[in-house]
Amino acid sequence: MNDIHDRLKTYEGRAAATAGTGKDLVNEPMIRHWCEAMGDTNPAYAGPEAVAPPTMLQAWTMGGLSGHTGRSDAYDELLALLDGAGYTSVVATDCEQEYLRPLRPGDAITFDAVIESVSERKTTKLGTGYFVTTRMDVRADGELAGTHRFRILKYTPGAPKPKGKRPRPVINRDNAGFWEDVAAHRLLIQRCGDCATLRFPWLPGCNACGSRAWDTVEASGSGTVFSYVVMHHPPFPAFTLPEHAADAAGPYAVGLIELAEGVRMVSNVVGVPYDKVRIGMPVRLEFLRVDAELELPVFRAQDGGEG
Ligand code: ZN
Repeated sequence: MNDIHDRLKTYEGRAAATAGTGKDLVNEPMIRHWCEAMGDTNPAYAGPEAVAPPTMLQAWTMGGLSGHTGRSDAYDELLALLDGAGYTSVVATDCEQEYLRPLRPGDAITFDAVIESVSERKTTKLGTGYFVTTRMDVRADGELAGTHRFRILKYTPGAPKPKGKRPRPVINRDNAGFWEDVAAHRLLIQRCGDCATLRFPWLPGCNACGSRAWDTVEASGSGTVFSYVVMHHPPFPAFTLPEHAADAAGPYAVGLIELAEGVRMVSNVVGVPYDKVRIGMPVRLEFLRVDAELELPVFRAQDGGEG
């Protein structure tokens, strides 16, 4: 274990890039595109006296699709060493820049980068690994214009989390009645006491007229899939339906169900694979026991999903 740490430390101070050159001079079209993409309308970045936005510093050094210039072997060796020790994943964690002088159209960019530090072994929420910090010195016509510090974490992904409990609904004064009736296997929709507009989810007042008077009607239980999304990443095993338990980390469908009464609710569609849920599919209410404390209204597909 200490062996790799000592080897990693030997890379501190070594070059990550030497005598790199910017692929273009600092130029107005790239500045304009950047400002449009960022929505930055600062007048300092346009006109005959324009300077480049300081935060573009790194853009002038990027290799683009045609590749980097001046990248050293040391940085690639360091990453390969970490890969070989099992730290195969990488995530960029942060970036710090210092600006020493403005960049102007026509400036020729050169840069050098050094592997500034390799951390001790750290354990993060993502997994265990090493932070690698590089510092790039960016020069304009040979004069130091700014520095760009960039940090990555090379890590071994942590073990997948055990399946947790499905998150509990938030029950408060406004919706407690709804959940009491779910426990009794009834799905109640609020109805305005003044204008009779139905509403879901439960709220203290009427969206249509503002009245706070209300009673309820019981849903017939029939409905259709109004819309849906299929959730792929990140996986949330707690949301996997019991009938799909064999693939607990797999995708699942989130349905927006339009009840026969006209209101819509977000729920699960059961009795059909996630990729067979379809808009317009008829569904019927049932109650799913998720665990000892939680039962949820869900909707069972009525035509097997082949329509
Ligand atoms: Zn109303």
